[in-house]
Amino acid sequence: MAACTCAACLREFTSVSAFDLHQTAGDGSFGSVTCHDPAARGLVRNERGRWHFPVDAAARLSLERMRAGRSQSGISVTPEVSGASGAVSGPQAATGQGT
Ligand SMILES: [Zn+2]
Repeated sequence: MAACTCAACLREFTSVSAFDLHQTAGDGSFGSVTCHDPAARGLVRNERGRWHFPVDAAARLSLERMRAGRSQSGISVTPEVSGASGAVSGPQAATGQGT
């Protein structure tokens, strides 16, 4: 499991969503963020010192995702690959054999 470390406050998080929760964008300029106390945002800390959602919230979230996935069944996300043929064309160098 990949952990996220906040560059601003150096706190570690077990998920990006937990990371996002502790941080809010400042005035909109790039790199301007405000870090909040994760505990005040409802996050809990595990024995490794990483912040994560409490089990209840995580379980509820996965349940909601499961339900959403069922209702949306039939929608497949396949990225369109276009122009791939042009990127591969390298110089087919003629080896100077025919002298
Ligand atoms: Zn932070």
